[in-house]
Amino acid sequence: MKNALLADKHILIVEDDEPCRLFLEIILNDAGCSFEVAVNGREAVERVKVGGYDIVLMDVRMPVLNGYEAAQAIRLVKKDLPVIAVTAHAIEGVKEKCVAHGMNDYLTKPFTQEKLLEKLVQWTSGSARAGE
Ligand SMILES: [Mg+2]
Repeated sequence: MKNALLADKHILIVEDDEPCRLFLEIILNDAGCSFEVAVNGREAVERVKVGGYDIVLMDVRMPVLNGYEAAQAIRLVKKDLPVIAVTAHAIEGVKEKCVAHGMNDYLTKPFTQEKLLEKLVQWTSGSARAGE
């Protein structure tokens, strides 16, 4: 179902796992968002430098540059761009670790379509495109 609050948002999906990526793409397509994909942290940093994103969905475990490292690098170039960690680690201290590495929030896998869209709306509504 289209989500009016997200219709004009441009999202960067950072995810090395193809099934996870497809799941995100299906939800975002359905919500009417536009998005691009990076398959590791380094690619994410390069894309963010070029700009144009309203928010980044950042997997944590990835090759080349993991989500924590990528988030730190993104903070050096885009101070206010919302970065949401998408992590399978529902263990104690993960939220603190995400925040310490410059991420704004986190979503634990597996998540529902509703939960993902709720986070995206929460972090993209009511403000101008961050970090531009
Ligand atoms: Mg991964």
